[in-house]
This record gives sequence, C-alpha cells and structure tokens, in this order.
Amino acid sequence: MKKLLIALILVSSTLMILSLFVHSTTSNVIEKRIGKPINKSPILPSNLKENEKKYLSVSESVYDTSSSSSYPVSILNATDSRPSDKLFLKEPDKVVYLTIDDGPDPNSTPKFLEVLQEHDIKATFFMIGATMEKNPQLVKDIFSQGHAIGNHSYTHNYGSLYKDTESLAEEINKTEDIIFSITGTRPKIFRAPGGSQRMRKTELVNKLDELGYAYFDWNASSADTDPNGVTKKDVIDNIKHDSSGVKKVITLMHDNHRRKASLEALPELIEWFKENGYEFRTLNENVEPFHFKTIHIKESSNKNTITDSAYRSVTESVYSN
Ligand SMILES: [Zn+2]
Repeated sequence: MKKLLIALILVSSTLMILSLFVHSTTSNVIEKRIGKPINKSPILPSNLKENEKKYLSVSESVYDTSSSSSYPVSILNATDSRPSDKLFLKEPDKVVYLTIDDGPDPNSTPKFLEVLQEHDIKATFFMIGATMEKNPQLVKDIFSQGHAIGNHSYTHNYGSLYKDTESLAEEINKTEDIIFSITGTRPKIFRAPGGSQRMRKTELVNKLDELGYAYFDWNASSADTDPNGVTKKDVIDNIKHDSSGVKKVITLMHDNHRRKASLEALPELIEWFKENGYEFRTLNENVEPFHFKTIHIKESSNKNTITDSAYRSVTESVYSN
C-alpha cells in the first residue's frame, strides 16, 4: 500500500513538472511570435486630436482564442501571454476598412480615387516603394484626398523581402523614406506582401515591432488576384460572403491595372456596407490590428529552432461571431 502511494506521488509530480514545461515553452514561442513584450506600460499615442482621445480604450480581442477549437489546450492557454495593455482607438460597432494594395497605377488608381470621391469614402492604400517612385503624383493625390497610406515593402518580392531581418528593415525603411519625401509623413502601418503568415521567422515580426510598425492582414478578400481572373460579381460575392456577420471588416483589393473587377465592384460594395450599417474608417497605427493567427508548435527538441514541420498557421477571423 505504501509502495503504491509512493508510486502515485511520483507519477503525478512527474506529470505536473512535464505540463509546466510544455506550457512555459509554448508560451515563450507564441509570445515571441506576437513579438511584443508583455509588460509594457500603456502607450498613449501622441499624435491624436483631442476628440480622438476620448475614444481610446483598452482592447484585447485580437488575441482572443474563443473562436478556436482545434488546438491543444496548452497552446490555447499559451496565447494568454498576448499584450493586453496597448491602447487602441475605439471603433464603431460596425466598421469597414477598405484596403487597396500594390499601387499606385497610372491607369487604375485615378479611377479608384474617382469612385471613392463620388461616395465620399476614405480608404487605405498599401503601396509598393518602387511603384511609388515611378508615380509620385498619384501618391500625392491619394494623400491630399485624405486617404491613408501604408507601407507595402519596396519590391514586393517574397524571396528577398522575407530573407532576413536586414532585408525586411531595408525595404521598409526605403519605402518609408519615399512616402516621407512625397507626403512629409511617415505612416507606421505595414501590410505584409502575401499576408503576415509569410513572415515565418519570429525575428521578422520582432523587427517590425522594433521599427515601430503595426501590421494589418485582412478578413474579407476580393480574391481579385485569382490567376483565372474574377468578374465583378465574383468580387461582390467574395467580399459579402467574408463580411457577413463580421463587425470589423478589413477588405482586400488591388489597384493595379489588371484588377478591373474590383474597381467595377467598388460602388456596389460601398452601398452594401452602408446599407448594413457599417462606418468607413482608415487604418493607422492606433487601430487595433487584425492578424492572421499563426501558431508555432514545437516538435523539435532543439529549443532554438522553429522548423518548417513545426509551423502551422490558421487564418480564421476572430471577429466572426
Ligand atoms: Zn501586395
């Protein structure tokens, strides 16, 4: 009996130590992936107008895991190490951010601007540095018409951009300087070409944070980059489908000349969002980010590597409730 008791104590304490170990290592990995220290004191954005300050609120929904169900408990618990003390702008009950990527384009961007102006809507243009260099007047037009400008790297080339932290920083800084030389501002928002799941190295996300950038993915895609092409109806259906029941929508469209369908769909989509009670806003670094959820699951015994086989990502919306 005594032996049995000792054996039981031994087994249960081993299990306890083991579970503590698993939790702490996974916490560490995910905390690193999120890329922000967890004990930062609250940051009050300094560049806010007085009337915006009252809308500030402590927000923590981005890293909520309530909609996830298919991951081991230890992984879900580990996301409790998310940052919860950054202050973000309070948003309307239903809000849509139109984001338009890859421009500016001499053919298509002026047409996008025309539609937006007709409907008195502001959007966010994530633009490529090399493309902006060729079309500075379009960047000026976008800026002077009150749209937000975001950094979308200098080359949009996944291979070189995501190679290492130096390459990422170089492209972001170069693009930031171009935006500054044209507009006199340095917006600190980034859209990762191909989506943030492509930044598969923890240090890349940490680098973004170090550079002071907030990055935004999307949760309603026009799918206008489909190699088979899309029609106006496809774009409308895609965006409506992804947005239905979602309170905070970030749409993805492209304004290079091959994406006519998105341009054609835009007026109808604007009307649809209006009819459904959405307010239109533009992104800035004080808007609570939306990120594709990326979870690293360690399978290797080497603590310092996150191998490809241990990498998984999910791209479900945390707002679809
Ligand atoms: Zn892009």
